[in-house]
Amino acid sequence: MENCIFCKIIKGEIPSAKIYEDEDMLIIKDVNPQAKIHYLLLPKQHFANIVEMTDAQAQTLARCIKKLSNMVDELGLQDGFRLVSNKGAHACQSVEHLHIHILGGQQLDDRMC
Ligand code: 5GP
Ligand code: ZN
Repeated sequence: MENCIFCKIIKGEIPSAKIYEDEDMLIIKDVNPQAKIHYLLLPKQHFANIVEMTDAQAQTLARCIKKLSNMVDELGLQDGFRLVSNKGAHACQSVEHLHIHILGGQQLDDRMC
């Protein structure tokens, strides 16, 4: 999708700190971390949020999350983590390409604990 910052990162047009990449997804470091460990899981296919997601995209996303569950140790998440996906203005979604925040390590904001 033109003018989508995450599509540009996926295509390598904008640099990012890549942690993992395969045919379905990219995992990168968030540029403005909100926890000691803050990664973003980006499905390579563009869709804005879970409401716009097709059944096929939902299956791909589930596969991505399963793969993530197999990488917990190598990502340093063995002591626990949160997965968060914001949808819409009231949830402060700022990038309209679905992404899953992966938050681990010592939380900077523990109001949700
Ligand atoms: P949202 O607010 O849409 O749920 O989250 C967007 C996230 O993307 C934010 O945490 C923000 O720091 C991150 N972000 C925005 N632009 C970039 C970028 O160019 N590179 C990386 N690595 N993260 C970005
Ligand atoms: Zn996109």
